[in-house]
Amino acid sequence: MTFRATVLTLYPEMFPGMLGHSLAGRALGEGAWSLETVQIRDFAEGKHRNVDDTPAGGGAGMVMRADVLAKAIDASSPAGDLRPRLLMSPRGASLTQARVRELAGGPGALILCGRFEGVDQRVIESRGLEEVSVGDYILSGGEPAAQVLLDAVVRLLPGVMGNEASGEEESFEGGLLEHPHYTRPQDFEGTPIPDVLLSGNHARIAAWRREQAERLTAKRRPDLLAKRPQPVTK
Ligand code: SAH
Repeated sequence: MTFRATVLTLYPEMFPGMLGHSLAGRALGEGAWSLETVQIRDFAEGKHRNVDDTPAGGGAGMVMRADVLAKAIDASSPAGDLRPRLLMSPRGASLTQARVRELAGGPGALILCGRFEGVDQRVIESRGLEEVSVGDYILSGGEPAAQVLLDAVVRLLPGVMGNEASGEEESFEGGLLEHPHYTRPQDFEGTPIPDVLLSGNHARIAAWRREQAERLTAKRRPDLLAKRPQPVTK
C-alpha cells in the first residue's frame, strides 16, 4: 500500500517544493508515496472564480467559501476514501511525532491548505476536517505547513530512511530530546570529543547518552518528562 497524499491548495505550483528533494523526493520518484495537488479555484464558479469572500459579521480580510471547498473535497475524496482529512490551521492540535507515526501507518491524507483569514466553519464541520497546527505562530498559508507535515510522515514510510534504526532514536520517540552528537575532528578549536564516546564501551556510551538526553529534556522541555509513560513497577 502506497501512502497517498492529496493537497488542496490555491498554489499547486508550490508542490512538491522541498518534498521533491533529498529523502522525500527520492521516495516520491521510487513510488514509496504519491502526491496529487488539486487547484481549489477549479471548483469556483462565475467569471471571476472567486474562492473567498468578506467575513460575515465584518472585520478584516477574506474567508474561503464553504461551497467551493466542499466541492473540491468531494471531488478529491469520494465515499469510501478512508484517508483522514486534515486542515492546516493554527487553531488545530499541535502536530506531534505520535500523530505523524499514526498518519504514516495509514493509507494517506487529504490536506487542505488555508489562505486569507481561514475557512468557513461550516465546511470544517460538514466534511469532518481535523485541524492540525505546526506551531504557535501564523503562516501566510497552509502550504508550508502541509510540506512540514508530509516531510515528517514520508521519512517514516517503509524503505524511505536509509538507516531504519535512526528513526527510533530520534528526539521525541522515547519521550526525550536526543543526546548531543559529535564527529571528527577529534579536537575542534580546543574542545575535544567527550572521552566516553571514544572508549569503545557500548554500555557506557549508551548510559552516557541516556543521561545527557534526560538532563537536556529536564532543562529544555520538562513538559515532555511529565508526559512520559512511566515504567511499570511491581
Ligand atoms: N486568521 C487565522 C490565521 C490565518 S493564516 C487565525 O488567526 O487563526 C492563513 C492560513 O495559513 C490558515 O488558514 C492555515 O491554513 C495556514 N496556517 C497559518 N498558520 C498555521 C500554523 N501554525 N499551522 C498550520 N497552518 C497554518
